[in-house]
Amino acid sequence: MTDETRSAETLQFRAEVQQLLNILAHSLYTEREIFLRELISNASDALNRLQFEMLTNRDVLDPDLKLEIRVDFDDDAHTLTIADTGIGMTRDEIVENLGTIAHSGALAFLKQVGEAQQSGDLRVADIIGQFGVGFYSVFMVADEVSVTTRSYRPEAAAWRWISRGDNQFTLEPADKATRGTTVEIKLKEDAHDLASSWRLESIIKRHSNYVSFPIFVKDVQANQQAAPWRKPPKDVTPEEYDEFYRQLTFDLDAPLLHAHIVTDAPVDIRSILYVPAKLDRTALNLRSDHGLRLYSRKILIQEHNKDLLPEHLRFVEGVVDSEDLPLNISRETVQSSRVLRQIQKVLAGRVIKALRELADEKPEEYARFWQEHGIFIKQGVGMNPGDNAELLPLLRFPSTRSDSQPIALAEYAGRMIEGQTEIYYLLGNDLASAAGSPHLDPLRARGLEALLLTDPFDGYMVQGIREFEGKTLRNVDDPGLELPGEAKAAAEDAAAADTPQADFAEVLARVKLVLGDRVTEVRESKLLTDSPARLVSPDAGFERDMQRVRRLIEDDFKVPPKILELNRRHPLVRNLAAKMASEPASPLVDATIELLFENLLLLDGLHPNPAQMAPRIQMLLEAATR
Ligand code: ADP
Ligand code: MG
Repeated sequence: MTDETRSAETLQFRAEVQQLLNILAHSLYTEREIFLRELISNASDALNRLQFEMLTNRDVLDPDLKLEIRVDFDDDAHTLTIADTGIGMTRDEIVENLGTIAHSGALAFLKQVGEAQQSGDLRVADIIGQFGVGFYSVFMVADEVSVTTRSYRPEAAAWRWISRGDNQFTLEPADKATRGTTVEIKLKEDAHDLASSWRLESIIKRHSNYVSFPIFVKDVQANQQAAPWRKPPKDVTPEEYDEFYRQLTFDLDAPLLHAHIVTDAPVDIRSILYVPAKLDRTALNLRSDHGLRLYSRKILIQEHNKDLLPEHLRFVEGVVDSEDLPLNISRETVQSSRVLRQIQKVLAGRVIKALRELADEKPEEYARFWQEHGIFIKQGVGMNPGDNAELLPLLRFPSTRSDSQPIALAEYAGRMIEGQTEIYYLLGNDLASAAGSPHLDPLRARGLEALLLTDPFDGYMVQGIREFEGKTLRNVDDPGLELPGEAKAAAEDAAAADTPQADFAEVLARVKLVLGDRVTEVRESKLLTDSPARLVSPDAGFERDMQRVRRLIEDDFKVPPKILELNRRHPLVRNLAAKMASEPASPLVDATIELLFENLLLLDGLHPNPAQMAPRIQMLLEAATR
């Protein structure tokens, strides 16, 4: 049948289209507004194609007609129209595009819907545009749709396609003097609210703000058109970056940094990414979900895409636009995932680079970043040690030698002492108790620095850092700890005051007797100088470092018994030995041993119930004031 056959006719939709319409009619109410995105995206495509045609062909209908999209409504009649001055369709094209031809996109869409229904999370809105079936989403809001269209070909006549979204559609000749397509919608009863300027404008701003042709709602332009991410970075002012961030996130605080990414090879990417100043700005729940906005050719494809950045960068906000993303993913799954991987690599690399620059150029702002988002980087280190080359330089930790700002691993490495081959760290509950830990005692005496890891997650994170620039990380409560350098101070004068060997043996025995199973062993410390005792772990590194994490997440987790090491030169140990010799039955002896032990648990952040120390403290206080 040719374009010139001017008679009405009723045709059947293909079976898969019928099935698709059936699904759409029952889709989620909240998803319905995306029909407008789909119709506008078709209008924009039609305008693009016309523009392209006109590059080489001036013989088109109405060559001077403005390229634009007009949305109109009648709230009494409950109708909407979306009109464009694009390329239009001939009769054959209508039949081909909107109805009867076998439609691989529809089949692929149905397959995906089937899978999504199985897994229970069907989001038609996120996928429908990707299968070349977006037009049919209009039946989510329409009782009846008519498409009146006239092709750009000067000799072509106007036609109208009408359907109620059932199994069939009608084609009839139409009167339309000008080029383009007008879609007229009779709204379903539960969609009458769409016939309002405010509703239409806000849907357009949300989904189609950056379509490159003007979109008017009743003669008022609703879209912003110029997509900042498609401009050359030098043409975007700092204010524009901040303003765009606000529109995107509803966050009133300016972002900490942005990265504007423009690449043509190996993939086409136009992207602006932001690091928010605060993590917890979703308190108002304006944005329910993380993820980047994904555009293809300025049309929003997905609002929260989580595949474009690795999980540990999920604090990043922004948009990504790529012409290389195939719209029909079903046909090109393999290729599409390769493209996604390439995009992810470029984006992640740029975010990391921007963060490293921030650290170099604005350390104070980087410190703010670290405070807000550092936990994500730590998570990345713990979970994907493969990314360590990029992530380790971003880490910051308080240390025994840092004053106000936490330090980078490189800073630590840069001031290691002669002969030092390891990076020492201490796990603790908070900075105050960590700084008072007896484990630091021998390090201090040798001028060695230790990182203080007091975040509950740190025990997990350090598992991901086996080494940094060839230096192994070493927990200072390692029983086999050997330290470089020579211990100064305390040791010299105390040497004269060693607890005699025989007395010290008695102390070791008594301590083991009192503490029983709560310690695996009581022995002399080779390292301690200023502290009387410390607890070291007999377990392997992983078990030991995870104890704090497990204590937080497991209700009934009990810290496994440790080795107690005593400092033979310490006055407390010496006095204890003397007390045992003069008054072996004194209750003060056992009370001292108990409290010494509990103190160590406390300092290591492992005491299950500090309040239980009070009665013994009181007993010793009474003895001290007697
Ligand atoms: P897609 O846009 O992904 O191809 P749709 O279901 O949205 O899938 O549209 C199907 C086809 O219908 C389009 O490819 C296009 O050829 C035609 N079409 C839809 N709307 C218009 C329009 N406003 N102007 C011209 N052609 C259109
Ligand atoms: Mg479309």
